[in-house]
Amino acid sequence: MKYTGSCHCGKLAYEVEGDLKGAMACNCSICSRKGSLLWFVPRSQFQLRSSADVGTYTFNKHVIKHHFCRTCGIHPYAEAMDAKGNPMTAINIRCLEGIDLDAVPVKHFDGRAL
Ligand SMILES: [Zn+2]
Repeated sequence: MKYTGSCHCGKLAYEVEGDLKGAMACNCSICSRKGSLLWFVPRSQFQLRSSADVGTYTFNKHVIKHHFCRTCGIHPYAEAMDAKGNPMTAINIRCLEGIDLDAVPVKHFDGRAL
């Protein structure tokens, strides 16, 4: 299935292909502030449609690129590697259009313990 997602103002927009079967809520210092619900997909299933005003934030080990819109401030996705070194995209499913957020099973991840 194909999903579309974007920031609030629409300058940052993307498509993502895959089966949305669940998402992750993480309690690390940034996720707890953003309230993101993350769905990890291989980077090849992710296609940026508009990146007019994209900003990138990194911290700690600087291995995760948190992308946000410089106009509206929303963080619709991030980029990272999985444990095997494959490029992944972390979709903030709160930014996807037309999904029933309450129907997506959410697992809690202890990012503070890392
Ligand atoms: Zn925006």
